Order: sequence, then structure tokens, then C-alpha cells
Amino acid sequence: MIPALASHLRHLREAASQQPLGLYIHIPFCKDRCTYCSFVTTRDVGLKDSALARLAADLQVWGQALNHPEIDTLYFGGGTPSLLTAEELTHLVRVARDAFDFSPLREATLEANPGTIDSAWLQSARRLGFDRLSFGVQTLDNVLLQYLGRIHDGAEGINALRMAQAAGFQRLSADLMVGIPGQDLERVISDARTLVAAGATHLSVYMLDLDKNCPLKAQVDSGRLQLPSEDEVADAFEALQAELPNLGLAPYEISNYAQPSQLSIHNTRYWERRPYLGLGPSAASQLDRWRWTESSVIQAWAEGRGKAELQELDAAAELAEIPLLGLRMHQGIDWEELRARATMLNLQHLTDTWEAALRPFLKHGLLEKEGSVLRFTQRGMLLSNSVLETFV
Ligand code: SF4
Repeated sequence: MIPALASHLRHLREAASQQPLGLYIHIPFCKDRCTYCSFVTTRDVGLKDSALARLAADLQVWGQALNHPEIDTLYFGGGTPSLLTAEELTHLVRVARDAFDFSPLREATLEANPGTIDSAWLQSARRLGFDRLSFGVQTLDNVLLQYLGRIHDGAEGINALRMAQAAGFQRLSADLMVGIPGQDLERVISDARTLVAAGATHLSVYMLDLDKNCPLKAQVDSGRLQLPSEDEVADAFEALQAELPNLGLAPYEISNYAQPSQLSIHNTRYWERRPYLGLGPSAASQLDRWRWTESSVIQAWAEGRGKAELQELDAAAELAEIPLLGLRMHQGIDWEELRARATMLNLQHLTDTWEAALRPFLKHGLLEKEGSVLRFTQRGMLLSNSVLETFV
């Protein structure tokens, strides 16, 4: 528990009693490090015991501090949660069930790497109550998977979905990456078709984003590998946007497409600004007007020495998050409602400034307004970052 939060415990507890929370647990271990990865993760499994002990202790501390609040979504992300043994996973889930009230649980997701699972593990995860799996497939092209440093090949990506179905999972997501060096962008479409045919009911489509320190960036900078051009990537995204509805997947967020009732309830809570508690290194929490992020230094975090960062959101910051996060959703936001809220808070100068800044985006067809609803157009989704900067 962050010392500065201790004096606000009464407010936090009250906020946690008003609506169920989401619970995110970060498992910071990977078998190998992918060449593009900037997530908080390590190959040092020597830290596993202390990290799991710390997670269990944090679950107990927070469960007690917040008076055993209700949880309606559970999400194990990483890193690679599928590196936990069935026994380790069972232990963490049991501790969580003792510490929190899971009676309103609507969804329990595990992220999994296709190169780390087998049928027995999937069956135990299903028995534990997980009902959704999110697989980091990225591409089915084996050459590209090697560039990315992934530990699995394309066939294992497809097999993972099939094994998961056989183990009783019906809610299956796969990550698909666009913009990989050497990627045949038409192949992205056929990968999407193959993944859906293999059982994926949800796709998260990401653009490769190279962190300045990652090995893949060094290869691109040295000229050994070449990124596709921005136009090629935009064409691939547009082709995907056109094809995915034919596969029964509708867009519901900038990067996410799902069959009916298959959207990620947990991730939607971030865009809808509903409260969540995040445990593990780098995990973020949002409750009441407080947001805090655990230390990203895995060993220090595991030993309880890491420094968490705490932020108190003022009224202006909270207001800005409504369009910043809400516009990511395909349905958009009610702009008149936002204006009314700004007026009530005496912050109409903010909505005036934003309206002036958004005018060119509306004019150039990146945003559209229908009645009071403001949302991205399909083209606008590709260039969403430049629009969303308005609210930062
Ligand atoms: S599996 Fe995911 S978290 Fe682990 S190294 Fe690869 S991209 Fe990073």
C-alpha cells in the first residue's frame, strides 16, 4: 500500500463499495524477450517465488483495506501469465477469491503465449473459472515471427486456439500485428481469416511500435530490416477494416474487433473510466480521484522496495479523460453531455478550446458528428493519436 494513500482509505473504501472493481494482475515473466517488446517483464524466473508471494500479499492487503470489495472482471496480463504452473495459478486465484467478493464476476481473462500452453494447463485454467483467453499470435508468417523473436510459429498460434476450444473456452482473442518489417500486407487479411476460422471471436489489431531501445529498432536503424511505408500500413488497416465485418467481427474500439457479445468487458472498463485495481510491477489502479502505478523495477517491486507513483486527478484532468478515452470507443461520446458537465464545473473554456482544435479534424473527415454524438470515422481511427493529443 502506498503510504500517501493510507490517509485516503475511507474515500477509497467508499468508492470501492459503490460499484464492482476490475482486478488486473501483472505476471512479469517471459520465456524469452521478443525483439520489439517494451513491457515490464523478465526472463529471470529466479524472481518468480518472491513475485508470487508479493502478489498474494498485495491481494490480501488490498482486499482487507477496501473491505473485500466486489470484483466483476479479472484479468491476468503480462509478461506471460501462461508461464505460471497450474498450481501457481490456482494459488493466486484462491488468495484472490478469499480477499475479494467475486460473486458479480462477469469475465475472467488470461493472456497466453501459444508457445507455453498445453491441454492440461488450459483445462485447469478453465476449471478455475477463467472463461476468456487472449493469445499473442501477432502473425502466422514464420519468418516474421522470427524477426519478432516470438517463441512460437504460426501453426502453434492456430493450434493454441483449437486446444483452447477443446478445453471449453468459447471466448478467444488473438493479437494481430501490422507494420512488421518484410510483412506481406495482404497476408494480414488471410491471417485474420485463418484465426477466425480456428476459433478467434475477438481480434486486437496493433501497429508495430518500436521502442527506442529494442533490438528490432536497432536492426531497422542499421538498414538490415525495413519497415513497410506508412501508406502501405494504412492500406493494410483499411483492408482489414473492410474484411473483418465479413468475418462477423465488428469494431468496438480503435484496435479491437469482436463478434457479438465477445468484446473484452475488462478492457472496456478502462475506456469507460470504471474503477480498477492493478497489482504487480507497472500495474496501474484507478479509484475515486486517485490513480497509482506500481514500480516497474521488478526485483525492487517484488521485495517491497519499489516506488509507486501516485496522481490525484483534478476536475479538469477528469473531464479531459472523457474524450481522451471515450473517443477510442467506436460508439464515440456525447459531446453535449460533456459540454454540460464542463459548464457545471466551470470548465467551459476547456470544451471551447477543444472544439476549436477539433474543427479541422471534422472538416477533413477524421471525426464525424451525428446529433450530439462525436466519433471517429474509419479513416480517423488510423490517425487517432493526432486527434487525441488535443486532450492531453
Ligand atoms: S511475450 Fe509479450 S510481454 Fe513477453 S517479451 Fe514477448 S511481447 Fe513482451
